[in-house]
Amino acid sequence: TPPIALLMTGDELMRGDTVDSNSATIAQALVAAGLRVDYKITVGDDRALLLNSIGDRVSVSRILIINGGLGPTSDDLTAEVVAEAAGRQLVEFPELADTIRNWCEERGFQADTANLKQARLPEGAEVIANPVGSAAGFAVMIGACLVITTPGPPRELGAMLPGVMALVRQHVGGGSGSTLRLQTFGLGESAIQEMVHNDIADWPPEVTLGFRAGLPMLELKLVIETPEHEALQRRCLEEMHALFGDHIIGEADVTLAASLQTLLRERNMTITCAESCTGGLIASMLTQEPGASSVFEAGFVTYSNAMKHKLLGVSESTLEKHGAVSEPVVREMLGGALSASGADTGVAVSGIAGPDGGTPDKPVGTVWFAWGGPNAIKSKRLLLPLGRDIFQTVVAAAAIDLIRR
Ligand code: ATP
Ligand code: MG
Repeated sequence: TPPIALLMTGDELMRGDTVDSNSATIAQALVAAGLRVDYKITVGDDRALLLNSIGDRVSVSRILIINGGLGPTSDDLTAEVVAEAAGRQLVEFPELADTIRNWCEERGFQADTANLKQARLPEGAEVIANPVGSAAGFAVMIGACLVITTPGPPRELGAMLPGVMALVRQHVGGGSGSTLRLQTFGLGESAIQEMVHNDIADWPPEVTLGFRAGLPMLELKLVIETPEHEALQRRCLEEMHALFGDHIIGEADVTLAASLQTLLRERNMTITCAESCTGGLIASMLTQEPGASSVFEAGFVTYSNAMKHKLLGVSESTLEKHGAVSEPVVREMLGGALSASGADTGVAVSGIAGPDGGTPDKPVGTVWFAWGGPNAIKSKRLLLPLGRDIFQTVVAAAAIDLIRR
């Protein structure tokens, strides 16, 4: 693969005030495109050191990605140092200056000289738009090396990364491999390991399958290192889908809620939730996804028995007889939420998050789920003794997963 270097800049990185997460972000994007970083350096906001480092790298790298120092302050040196290294003048880019003026105006202030400094880039540079900030990135050739600059704030870097990757591909083409990340839910690492070991042991050596246990999802990473990666990736994907079925939520950074939302949209259905032990986390997860308003009707957080009765119409005798954490209660909670909201489908949960409140027949971690539509309510019990925080996250995720299936 072509040599690609990263130059991370900023005194805050050298002091340890900021942990360098941006180089990981950039490296992962490159790996996903079948490329890799072969050299990485971090340098403080020092003109001579920056200039040296750039000169040193451009003679051996095909691509040098510089991060940080694009801002308006005097310690932001990237544009002028790159201009000097490229032997070009810093000139004002009028369109960029307009964008910056507008950006400042939208935030209620006038652009000053410092802001407009960000419109001064090396002559002939290609601008990389910044959808979420004022400092644009840019790219220039220095010798045979494409030098790309990117902003320090992680959110801005993330927003600019697609533009950066497009330039990278233009310059060096795709790599000789591919990486695909898949999100799964409901399978433990050891279970997956076992299934993989038993069923896909015959994959060729250029394929590696990695795992990363996240919460609540477990990520599978399919790395293929061969120029013929496309056909091989298709084949591996088919086998993984056959093996893991609907435990696979989707690709890249898809969430359970996003995948549920897509499904509900396709079926033109709306959803509600009635929550006890998750305290609103299900509603929060469902509404974190943009576009939630087209599928999400209402969420009910009924913590006390009195409110389960009053808001959701759970009968007092059911509560009395079976207790709040029971099958009949979650079924009645869901029934109440469905009729109050008019939603087509929904989920209700009631459980014991702990650390207190367990009994021998309902230990801490016991949780009842009810899910489905008005005429097809299903229910089940799980035991998830995971500690309060993780319990809530996993219960909310499992609730969303149940409707999704
Ligand atoms: P700004 O316009 O905010 O000045 P900039 O492009 O000049 O942006 P820096 O000044 O280098 O970027 O960094 C701005 C902030 O971005 C830093 O204070 C830090 O919080 C964050 N940041 C910078 N570099 C990194 C990095 N490598 N990893 C994670 N965060 C970083
Ligand atoms: Mg700065």
